[in-house]
Amino acid sequence: MTPFLTVAEVRLIEQQLMKIVNAKASSKDANILATVRELAMATLNEKLPLGEDKETLLKAAEAVEDRLDVTLFLENLHVYTIPFKAISEKGIEKLFKKEKKLKMPKLDEVNWKGISYLSWQDIGTHRQYMIIEREGQFTGLKGTVSGTNAKGICAICNEHSDVHLFTAKVKGQADAYKSYSQYICDDVEKCNHRIKDYERLVQFVENNLV
Ligand SMILES: [Zn+2]
Repeated sequence: MTPFLTVAEVRLIEQQLMKIVNAKASSKDANILATVRELAMATLNEKLPLGEDKETLLKAAEAVEDRLDVTLFLENLHVYTIPFKAISEKGIEKLFKKEKKLKMPKLDEVNWKGISYLSWQDIGTHRQYMIIEREGQFTGLKGTVSGTNAKGICAICNEHSDVHLFTAKVKGQADAYKSYSQYICDDVEKCNHRIKDYERLVQFVENNLV
């Protein structure tokens, strides 16, 4: 079995399957249920990448009836999930070379098959660090945390949540720097769990890079 699903794609599958399960809980109308199922399957068929096991996977997804089925199905997806490539403390230091006294995340606690991005804060300096990985290449992003205790739409996962402002310095015109602020989730784990569109995350990081 070759892993072919990103963590974000697994989350998309969960979201679509839960739509089917939730529809069943709220309606007995067979036509409505069939439509919801068709729409969910069409979304998955369109958005999931091609892989030798895609068809088998979609067929199994179509048979999901309740929450327990979804849980079991997601467990089976584990073997198909491409993990975030584990980064070492050395690798992190390299990404943030200019930082003095860089605070490290707890790497031994990270579930690499459960994240689309790695992020942690240094409460003392109000800094937040973020790392994304694409085909083995890491990109690091640094910003400051402010405006906590707010509610809003997260710029990364696009969902309503407890958020704070993440401010990065980006290059403006004529080499001047300007600040660029966006609201993102306070809870990195929850945010990762909500990401269904990996490109939005990449766009967020790119918009914030100096
Ligand atoms: Zn979020």
